[in-house]
Amino acid sequence: MSTLPAAFIGHGNPMNALETNRFTDAWAALGRAVGTPRAVLAISAHWYIAATAVTAMARPRTIHDFFGFPQALFEFEYPAPGLPALAEEVATAAAPDWVGADHDSWGLDHGTWSVLTHMFPDANVPVVQLSVNAAQPLEYHVGLGRKLAPLREQGIFIVASGNVVHNLRRMDFSLEGRGYDWAERFDAAVTAAMTSDPSSLASLAGHPDYALAVPTPDHYLPAAYLAGLAEVAGEPCAVLAEGCELGGISMTSFSVGLSG
Ligand code: ZN
Repeated sequence: MSTLPAAFIGHGNPMNALETNRFTDAWAALGRAVGTPRAVLAISAHWYIAATAVTAMARPRTIHDFFGFPQALFEFEYPAPGLPALAEEVATAAAPDWVGADHDSWGLDHGTWSVLTHMFPDANVPVVQLSVNAAQPLEYHVGLGRKLAPLREQGIFIVASGNVVHNLRRMDFSLEGRGYDWAERFDAAVTAAMTSDPSSLASLAGHPDYALAVPTPDHYLPAAYLAGLAEVAGEPCAVLAEGCELGGISMTSFSVGLSG
């Protein structure tokens, strides 16, 4: 079995689930390049809890974890099956760190399905979600990413979903297709780190624009998983799509192991 690519996706607006644009086109192209994996392990910014957990149910529900969006988005379903065996494989890979098995609290949130519906529109690939542990520092998440690397050789497509820059309080709807200067600067700094030496991601906590770009770590930490995966692969990340939106959001996405 060949080694599958892995990715960090800047997911942005939940409406991306229903729309097509240059970012969703890049996600769809990645899905075609990946083919049909055994399963997807999705690390979503929107399951940000004080524990590391995986969805372990056979039929994860579609969670509509937002408000103020059109009814069509609340009616959207992504009925991909789960894969309890993969939940166990993740727990084994993470040991001795503990990974909880969630049977009835979570499911697939929009950080996962707004992206996967473009990659696997038939929802025929099983999906297991991994939470982002809010109680742990960035180094823990990079380390867990490293531990998950062997799954890439077991038919698992690992996709982390967040945003490198995510400041909803500083959104400006007149800034369509661009970011504030601080957002563009921080996005460029993360891109430089991920495409040269992903292990240097940790040092960006000292970047002068970090506080504005990362007011809370939930959307940023998923990138740490790809940094860990890239470290194990011994290769820098490639840019899958890039750019800021509405002032305070970066849609920049990265991959590893995507040949050609
Ligand atoms: Zn989000």
